[in-house]
Amino acid sequence: FTPGLEPQPTWCPGCGDFGVLKALKQALPEVGRTPDETMLVTGIGCSGKLNSYLDSYGFHTIHGRSLPVARAAKLANPGLEVIAAGGDGDGYGIGGNHFMHTARENHDMTYIVFNNEIFGLTKGQTSPTSPKGHKSKTQPHGSAKEPLRPLSLSLTSGASYVARTAAVNPNQAKEILTEAMNHDGFAHVDFLTQCPTWNKDARQYVPYIDVQDSDDYDFDPTDRREAAEMMHETEDALHEGKVLTGRFYVDEDRPSYQQEKQRIGEMPDEPLAERYFDGDYEWERSYDMFLDKHK
Ligand code: SF4
Repeated sequence: FTPGLEPQPTWCPGCGDFGVLKALKQALPEVGRTPDETMLVTGIGCSGKLNSYLDSYGFHTIHGRSLPVARAAKLANPGLEVIAAGGDGDGYGIGGNHFMHTARENHDMTYIVFNNEIFGLTKGQTSPTSPKGHKSKTQPHGSAKEPLRPLSLSLTSGASYVARTAAVNPNQAKEILTEAMNHDGFAHVDFLTQCPTWNKDARQYVPYIDVQDSDDYDFDPTDRREAAEMMHETEDALHEGKVLTGRFYVDEDRPSYQQEKQRIGEMPDEPLAERYFDGDYEWERSYDMFLDKHK
């Protein structure tokens, strides 16, 4: 951005999305990434405005499709720090299929899900993480559905780093985003945000507890079984008046999708982003040829 002309966020006052932006701005220098080394791909929703306010490459995709675009960017240019971001409706609902399979394949990227338990941009409809009984315009008598369990879904799908943090805890949020970006593989961060405009009663006046800082919780996040049990307890507690946050699962040994493709000989040594400028690979410049033909 031009200094002094940085775009100002248009989120509502008190929105949790400010906390994500702040944590991300603080975490990127910690991992040593400059704007020209960073690619932020967003979905649709209030969260999708994130790349208007972060100085980096950006791609604002269609609803629920941030992950396939982010995967393509990382495969074409593995040197980029790739971050995908979107809301709980965008990521766990419309893009739920992509979420499972990007985790299963362990693509090397960070996925931040702004989880405010509603659809904010479209004025407060019930989302996949809305608690049972939650009343909205689409569910005036209260939701009859159990909420999705994003941490457990992420673990069982195959993510190699799973954490939950919250906009109300900026220090932890910065630390977790830094870890997630330093992780080689699919790092999923369920980022609890508040929507004071459409869901002002959610998680108000409840304690936020960091499981790594509390003596009440003793589990090993590198042990899959212990992580699964801790996630189950965390997801039960969320709607019983207690918010547990922290690192829930970390597997540093699992190869990323790109590493697996290299191992079986399917990943070219020279990334697509570099080959594009090589005249020997004229066939890959088909988009330019298409444009020339249709001038
Ligand atoms: Fe944030 Fe909710 Fe306003 Fe969207 S509608 S900007 S989520 S407070």
